Amino acid sequence: ALGTLLKDATRPTTRRAGPRAPIDPVAVEELREAIASDQLTVFFQPKARVSDRVVVGVESLVRWRHPERGLVPPVAFVGVAEEAGLIDAMTDVVFRQAVAQGGRWRARGLDLKVAVNISVDSLGRYDLPDTLVGIAADAGLPPSQIMLEVTESRLMADIKSPLEVLTRLRMKGVGLSIDDFGTGHSSLEQLRRIPFTELKIDRAFVHGAARDKAARAILESNASLAQSLGMTTVAEGAEDQADVTLVAALGIDLIQGHFFAKPMPAEDFDDWLADWRG
Ligand code: C2E
Ligand code: MG
Ligand code: MG
Ligand code: MG
Repeated sequence: ALGTLLKDATRPTTRRAGPRAPIDPVAVEELREAIASDQLTVFFQPKARVSDRVVVGVESLVRWRHPERGLVPPVAFVGVAEEAGLIDAMTDVVFRQAVAQGGRWRARGLDLKVAVNISVDSLGRYDLPDTLVGIAADAGLPPSQIMLEVTESRLMADIKSPLEVLTRLRMKGVGLSIDDFGTGHSSLEQLRRIPFTELKIDRAFVHGAARDKAARAILESNASLAQSLGMTTVAEGAEDQADVTLVAALGIDLIQGHFFAKPMPAEDFDDWLADWRG
């Protein structure tokens, strides 16, 4: 596991600022066990090109198949993993599943860029670039087919390790996406420093933007900012036809959301894609 591989690396220097809720030790043990016993699974949600509706990529989203509680969403445990030092082990499991599936798609001639969410807490690990690119190569996936999504609000301007680690990943050919853009407070500075290739506009400024002047203005100006920086633009959380029409009118490159598909297991994704293309 990545956690084991990296046990000698320096501790991450990037922790969430501000007070933390105490973490339940029982929950931590249960999550540790879940990671070790393969209870985490990855769902995939399509990212489609707006101009021709071709599916060009997927976002990998973790789920916990809990023996009693059923399918648990990431909001319930990703934060716990971060606080408890389990995030590298979790990322290892998710990344391996995601690139394994990406490799299978590629072997079938499907050109899908595989996006994985990476916690800022993992960006203090200086050997992350070699480790991730190595795991992907073993799965038959070149770095250019990998996209790492980093949530904008967690990137702090004064921390140097994310900048270095992300820059090294980019130099290896890995795509870098700044996620949930518009919800943080240091957005513009991060865009100047870090070589992001893609900007994902948070769904707060996508769904309903056609009926909400302020949301629409933010959507429009973020899209135009990313376009003038030469980045790929993505609108997340498109839920209805009005969202899709507006996103298309603004010249945004890619679109993701329930209007097209919810995140789903790989087998369901294959069926969905066959329908979509046919
Ligand atoms: P995110 O990276 O911004 O992912 C997009 C979230 O929006 C996903 O929620 C997705 O299911 C949801 N979504 C997509 N389209 C729509 C839509 O049209 N309407 C609505 N209402 N929601 C939509 P999900 O899967 O619950 O993930 C939530 C967050 O948890 C993610 O937000 C990401 O920050 C985090 N996360 C998920 N998987 C991982 C992971 O493997 N590692 C890490 N570090 N974080 C993860
Ligand atoms: Mg994401
Ligand atoms: Mg997002
Ligand atoms: Mg989001």
